[in-house]
Amino acid sequence: MPTDPTPRNGRFAPSPTGRMHLGNIFTALISWLSARSSGGKWILRIEDLDPQRSRREYARIIEDDLSWLGLDWDEGGLDNRGPAGPYSQSCRDDIYTSALSKLNSTGLTYPCTCTKADIMATQAPHQSDGRIVYSGACRPSVIPSPEPFGMPVKPAAIRLYVPDSEIGFTDRVYGPQTVNLARHCGDFVLRRADGAWAYQLAVVVDDAAMGVTEVVRGNDLLLSAAQQIYIYNLLGCPPPEFAHLPLICNKAGLRLSKRDESLSMAQLRSRCTPGEIIGRLACMAGLTPDAAPCSPGELIPLFNWSAIPATPKIQLD
Ligand code: GLU
Repeated sequence: MPTDPTPRNGRFAPSPTGRMHLGNIFTALISWLSARSSGGKWILRIEDLDPQRSRREYARIIEDDLSWLGLDWDEGGLDNRGPAGPYSQSCRDDIYTSALSKLNSTGLTYPCTCTKADIMATQAPHQSDGRIVYSGACRPSVIPSPEPFGMPVKPAAIRLYVPDSEIGFTDRVYGPQTVNLARHCGDFVLRRADGAWAYQLAVVVDDAAMGVTEVVRGNDLLLSAAQQIYIYNLLGCPPPEFAHLPLICNKAGLRLSKRDESLSMAQLRSRCTPGEIIGRLACMAGLTPDAAPCSPGELIPLFNWSAIPATPKIQLD
């Protein structure tokens, strides 16, 4: 099979907060296949920004599960193989600090002392999808601000101003998207008041630094791509391609979660061979007509983005 002329450098970025489930493996497999079928590299990044929920032990088990499935990575992992390490977000504080200074220098960031309760109190009652749109209560009256801001006495988050205009991108699976960030989320947090880095900042800084050119992940993060493209533009870095995948749902139609043990790797490894799991996922991805067992390597020549169903969910039967 001819190799795609443009290698797609992909990554898998699990949060080590539990054992992976079938949905996580689906993402890993498709991302791996896209990178491998185009001659690109595949990176394993540990997204352990949440100190309360992340455990090194889970990261170790994720590595073991990926290896058991035959999904190998060229860079990253707990042993920090590669030129852009460290590959665990908890060890990349200096890198995020310097990206934040760069964003601060645009005059578009500001400290925010609003509590969650303050923010909830300004939400329109019909906003029932759990999304929080920040009202801009702490936003300075002039933005971009001509002066660097001083930090308030109270602990403060740092927010990034967003314009009231559309950001467009084309997702490999779901096609053209437009998002107005002012309506979607409002000015959003880059660093929390407790000092923790926000996912939106860390993911952009890391994908850019690690040379990732294609982001593959679940469609629950589809609209986040717009926030990320906005940060890429402010940092002067080219955004990657985005490819979001349908979420795998259990028989009851609910998306799988790490709390839901039935399709976790622990259960799957006790019941199935790696080939059976990969074969089932390949069929769900539209790459094979049936779920015959196979290895990831056998799927490389069959991989084709246009086979992936552009549906919101894939329901297990
Ligand atoms: N760390 C996120 C997760 O485990 C993935 C984020 C991403 O791929 O951008 O769900």
